[in-house]
Amino acid sequence: MPEQDNMEEAEVETFAFQAEIAQLMSLIINTFYSNKEIFLREIISNSSDALDKIRYESLTDPSKLDSGKDLFIQIIPDKDNKTLTIFDSGIGMTKADLVNNLGTIAKSGTKAFMEALQAGADISMIGQFGVGFYSAYLIADKVTVYSKHNDDEAYIWESSAGGSFTVRPTADDFGRGTRIILYIKEDQAEYLEEKRIKEIVKKHSQFIGYPIKLQVEKERDREISDDEDDEKMDDGEKKEDGEKKEEKDKPEVEDLDEESDDESKNKDKKKKKIKEKYFEDEELNKTKPLWTRNPDDITQEEYGEFYKSLTNDWEDHLAVKHFSVEGQLEFRALLFVPKRAPFDMFENKKKKNNIKLYVRRVFIMDNCEELIPEYLNFIKGVVDSEDLPLNISREMLQQSKILKVIRKNLVKKCIELFENLTEDKDNYKKFYEQFAKNLKLGIHEDSTNRKKIADLLRYHTSQTGDEMASLKEYVSRMKENQKSIYYITGESKDQVQNSAFVERVKKSGCEVIYMTDPIDEYSVQQLKEYEGKTLVCVTKEGLELPEDEDQKKKFEEAKADFEGLCKTMKEILDKKVEKVAVSNRLVTSPCCIVTSQYGWSANMERIMKAQALRDSSTMGYMAAKKHLEVNPDHAIIKTLKIKCDADKNDKSVKDLVLLLFETSLLSSGFTLEEPGVHANRIHRMIKLGLGIDEDDSAAGDAGTDIAVEEMPPLEGDDDASRMEEVD
Ligand code: ADP
Ligand code: MG
Repeated sequence: MPEQDNMEEAEVETFAFQAEIAQLMSLIINTFYSNKEIFLREIISNSSDALDKIRYESLTDPSKLDSGKDLFIQIIPDKDNKTLTIFDSGIGMTKADLVNNLGTIAKSGTKAFMEALQAGADISMIGQFGVGFYSAYLIADKVTVYSKHNDDEAYIWESSAGGSFTVRPTADDFGRGTRIILYIKEDQAEYLEEKRIKEIVKKHSQFIGYPIKLQVEKERDREISDDEDDEKMDDGEKKEDGEKKEEKDKPEVEDLDEESDDESKNKDKKKKKIKEKYFEDEELNKTKPLWTRNPDDITQEEYGEFYKSLTNDWEDHLAVKHFSVEGQLEFRALLFVPKRAPFDMFENKKKKNNIKLYVRRVFIMDNCEELIPEYLNFIKGVVDSEDLPLNISREMLQQSKILKVIRKNLVKKCIELFENLTEDKDNYKKFYEQFAKNLKLGIHEDSTNRKKIADLLRYHTSQTGDEMASLKEYVSRMKENQKSIYYITGESKDQVQNSAFVERVKKSGCEVIYMTDPIDEYSVQQLKEYEGKTLVCVTKEGLELPEDEDQKKKFEEAKADFEGLCKTMKEILDKKVEKVAVSNRLVTSPCCIVTSQYGWSANMERIMKAQALRDSSTMGYMAAKKHLEVNPDHAIIKTLKIKCDADKNDKSVKDLVLLLFETSLLSSGFTLEEPGVHANRIHRMIKLGLGIDEDDSAAGDAGTDIAVEEMPPLEGDDDASRMEEVD
């Protein structure tokens, strides 16, 4: 598109690209990529989005189409000028849109995409990160964007990269839409070839819902008279200055093919045969909308192509469900599970989903919130309703009963789809790695389907090693006298499997589920039970294990025996704990911290501390209520009892109890309020162990005032030897 505006220089404004975008552009330009063809998919997909937008606006206000009723995408290759133009009659961009959307507003995807590239991702992923436009610079060294929005004059955006772009007004009026002119790089001339363009559109964009027309050059014979011939010659020359694309169907003389035999000349002197060039639009995507076709006639490849053109994904879907619902209400739907979760799935502000709503084959809108619950926002696809009115607005959709029924059906079908996936272990594993969080969110959000979603959950357990097990499998392995499903929450599998809480449960022959995803804390609170078996957290108070009479009796005796010690310990620890009690869950550890049944677990406290940084006031009363449980069979506890029975005011008892408490906080997954104090206690132990006199090293102990104040120095060697004894 030649620039024909005579606007003054002064009206040209120059803008700097947002820093990361500039960085991305230079990466795109300077790095070697073979798969450059995807630029066309990105530009066409933007056109398709722009057409969707104007169509949606026109549903409620038909006058929006006064600036052009025909909704299309046109591709115009121009070999002479080495430009490829993509023209759409979409919504267009105002001046502000051009400045904001094409370069100055930062997008989270820019950095994420560059990081992905560094990690070996393919350039074709660009569309997923919301920066597809810049892929134009894979094949162009300059890009000019003409755009006309209903609410503004026409403007031209232009950039040859290098960190800046210009925006200027233009007198060129083309109704409404956007023309992107790509100045094709020297070595990328293949993208001006008809055949190549057709191939790319077929591969990446055949399912776009608007006609994609390619302007193709044709040749035809035409008989003309001598006079006419002269005129045509003139005309042809005139067109050299680049206007020929506008003048479609006007012939251009390529070759004067005079008939040489005398006979014909004699017959009619004035008639000549010429070959003329002309342009014609050829529609490249005549495919019927895939979802309207019979599933039996659709190949997996076709689903794959459709999925990719729908989503900008660079690889095929993981699973697909294609179905129709008939009866009092009628619709068809095509739902896909992608292979990967999007990089920004849980970014709070984004409440989008990926289901496109159609009404009788007409696209209505994206991101219709009422169509599918949030936890299924990773499902992509289309829904085509026979019943909704065409001019439906977002407000009307919120009230729509039809939509509620559609939504219910979509959820049902999605869950069916996941259930089918479980049959193929490997595939299900892939699915679960990507979307487990969504299922757990589903447990939280969707009470109607909670039971079914629970069947889809998988966890590592104390018995599964590297594999994961379903709750159903867990229940099938439960011991005869086992009433509950045991689980532990924590930061990682390594941390929980070595925790003191798991020891005894394992020893009693029961399996423990490891829940190491932060969201597990939330979902398990909603789930509460599975197949009539309560889910019990092994780090909380009142843990009951399947035990025989002997064990029970022993436990009761221990409780009585250690009552005194527990009382003394509670006095020492004071408000630090709610209660000190004898434990039935410990084997090799002297003690552990459990939390009250309805309060936070250690893991939850950790999660909340991380989240509530700004508002630490809530932490005070919400923090986990801690109970210290002591192991009556452990030598440390036994010895402590002896020491305490002898003299409960023994200073060393106080220090040891505090040390034990802090150590169990750590091993139970809590963090210490004052790690320095704890370190001082440990250092004192080390000094005792090494036989260093407290006074000798006083200088080195600067800054230990708090600790010293809280507990006076230990008595002497006596205690150190006792510590050795019990270790
Ligand atoms: P995305 O399409 O994911 O938003 P892109 O980098 O492909 O990211 O496009 C950036 C933005 O530029 C789009 O969101 C849109 O606002 C605008 N845009 C690009 N092409 C067009 C077009 N043909 N018509 C209207 N707006 C467009
Ligand atoms: Mg895009």
